[in-house]
Amino acid sequence: MSLTHSYAAQSATSPLTPWTFERRAVGPNDVSIKIHYCGVCHSDIHTARGEWSGTKYPIVPGHEIVGTVTAVGAAVKNWKVGDTVGVGCIVDSCRECASCKEDQEQFCENGMTGTYNGIERGTGHTTQGGYSQHIVVDENYVLRIPAGMPLDRTAPLLCAGITTYSPLRKYGVKAGMKVAIVGLGGLGHMGVKIAKAMGAHVTVVSHSDKKRDDAKRLGADDFLNTGEAGAFRANAKRFDFILDTVSAEHDYNSYLMMVKRGGTMVVVGIPPASPLNPSMLVMQQRCLAGSLIGGIAETQEMLDFCAEHQVFSDIEVIPASMINEAYERMLKSDVRYRFVIDSATLG
Ligand code: NAP
Ligand code: ZN
Ligand code: ZN
Repeated sequence: MSLTHSYAAQSATSPLTPWTFERRAVGPNDVSIKIHYCGVCHSDIHTARGEWSGTKYPIVPGHEIVGTVTAVGAAVKNWKVGDTVGVGCIVDSCRECASCKEDQEQFCENGMTGTYNGIERGTGHTTQGGYSQHIVVDENYVLRIPAGMPLDRTAPLLCAGITTYSPLRKYGVKAGMKVAIVGLGGLGHMGVKIAKAMGAHVTVVSHSDKKRDDAKRLGADDFLNTGEAGAFRANAKRFDFILDTVSAEHDYNSYLMMVKRGGTMVVVGIPPASPLNPSMLVMQQRCLAGSLIGGIAETQEMLDFCAEHQVFSDIEVIPASMINEAYERMLKSDVRYRFVIDSATLG
């Protein structure tokens, strides 16, 4: 067992405050990782504030972790002390069900163990995430960070990167396709960069005009402000593929209107509830789908893709003590484009 300093929410209504807790002892198949950076995902806010049911308090959020291996268990095969590694949203799964066998551990039929607010296999303890100094993880759920990647700008790839890469890859986004990314936040800005790296024509769909210049700077070909009257109707049936990353309640029907006949909209944002009219699907044979992060193998594939294409997150590095302020700014869509905690500030 080893102590780690962290920031935790003690209840759904309390701000995050310093908290010290014990990590499990390093087991034979475990690696211990000193955390250098941890990105701040909107799912951290939904969970800390109890917006999705089932948050167990105290909770230490954070599932965009980059660090260095400091200890390995006796049976560890793939890692050694000093390796630069990442941990995303999954720290364990059953390894036996159909989903696990298909490298889709996020859908483990016996329950994927989330990096935080999960149930640790063996102990039954609640898992605690990356707003902390170190973490102990089974070696099979650790990712290799390719050499030369800037660690702070790479941390957000562990959730925002894989969550956008996975559906863009699955639905075959490529040159010649008109793609819209809805919501230019942490996920959205990674979606823009990855879809561009895949060769698509990319339009950012944002709910104000504030990010117009940034969208171009991030590589988007076009920008659409849905705050303008008639914006949805004027762009009806324009896109082959839409990726919706919006974190707040919004009208899916309006966005579906912009999907071409036979095209697809994939939702990755998880607002509490949002309306849907079936005729928006029926009348133009549109597809509406969801997507959840990605498996471990695909997360490694994404990291290698981002290294090859030099795709990294645009970030604002913060001390851990600024986490509550960061949450408030994210709720106002004022993040350019991912907050990343410098873990050295937890000491
Ligand atoms: P974020 O950085 O806060 O970005 C969310 C963006 O949504 C905002 O920047 C804003 O973009 C847009 N938005 C906010 N309010 C809106 C409104 N009322 N109408 C239209 N657009 C609005 O959040 P994130 O970290 O990217 O996460 C986004 C969502 O994905 C969250 O719900 C999160 O829990 C979820 N998520 C899902 C997965 C998964 O596996 N499926 C993984 C990670 C996160 P504009 O200012 O450009 O409009
Ligand atoms: Zn996340
Ligand atoms: Zn499983």
